[in-house]
Amino acid sequence: MIPAVFDYHAPESLDDALALLRQYGPEAKILSGGHSLLPMMKLRLVEPEHVIDINGLPDLSYVRIEGDVIKIGGLTREAEIEQSDVIRSHAPIIHDTCVMIGDPQVRNRGTIGGNLAHGDAGNDHPATMLALGARIVATGPNGTRTIEVDDFFVGFYTTALDPDEILTEIQVPVPPARSGGTYLKLERKVGDYATAGIAVQLTIDAQGRCVTAGIGLTNVAAVPLRATRAQRRLVGTELLEADIIEAARFASEDARPSSDLRGPEAYKRGVIKTITQRAIGIAAGRARKNQ
Ligand code: FAD
Repeated sequence: MIPAVFDYHAPESLDDALALLRQYGPEAKILSGGHSLLPMMKLRLVEPEHVIDINGLPDLSYVRIEGDVIKIGGLTREAEIEQSDVIRSHAPIIHDTCVMIGDPQVRNRGTIGGNLAHGDAGNDHPATMLALGARIVATGPNGTRTIEVDDFFVGFYTTALDPDEILTEIQVPVPPARSGGTYLKLERKVGDYATAGIAVQLTIDAQGRCVTAGIGLTNVAAVPLRATRAQRRLVGTELLEADIIEAARFASEDARPSSDLRGPEAYKRGVIKTITQRAIGIAAGRARKNQ
């Protein structure tokens, strides 16, 4: 299908991009990797009058550590994150997430900023950012503001970004020693969106007790979901089999999946239980090795 007519803008600085957003307001859409925006435009689910391509903006693509924070530029491609040594050594859960996204072609263009800004509960990064307790940096006409990831996904395909803001950075606290995490998803075939996905990030103390647990779920509600009851069930425990089984049951009960072409609700709840159990086991194993 062919999209509706639109004007194309290619600003060369962040200030110019912000000025265009201010000028055209809700009639404009930012174009990053284009791997969600263009399909939606072709299906005429969105018909922006102005497309503002930010691919020419300098300095929005990076992965680095500053102090105790991993900073990822909004325009960083999945493929760059996948190959980042910073990510592999400090937050392997993000690496696990990237490699589950689409296929290499999608990852060569798709950006982490676009993946989050799209607000799609079926995308993989949101659950991982919930598990990691990330912060989203938005830049707008009045400068930058930081949004806690728990406040970022406000509804179906809706985020806390204002129409005149650009997602410029993601900030992830560097996980301390004795931390481990992973991302798992069930997909109908390689490259598909998740039937259900799970991100788990744990930290244990020297005695092996869980001190923090972050658990995010993909594609099991209208928004990316934090599994709070499951998190609470793990904290203070030694992550024994009974703890893990009950936390997984809580995640499955608290999810809100709907029946669709990926399967009926009951099946999805079963999937969530199984992959949550597995993911907690992997995350706990990594935390124990990461002394
Ligand atoms: P775009 O498509 O350019 O933009 C998406 C939306 O976000 C638009 O509304 C745009 O205006 C807005 N936006 C983009 N960047 C910014 C910004 N910096 N600030 C403010 N707003 C912004 N994703 C998964 O997570 N898992 C998958 O398994 C998966 N499989 C896929 C398979 C295929 C075949 C395709 C085509 C896509 C798939 N995707 C998947 C989606 C892919 O990850 C997209 O790249 C991602 O959802 C959007 O990132 P983007 O950079 O392409 O953003």
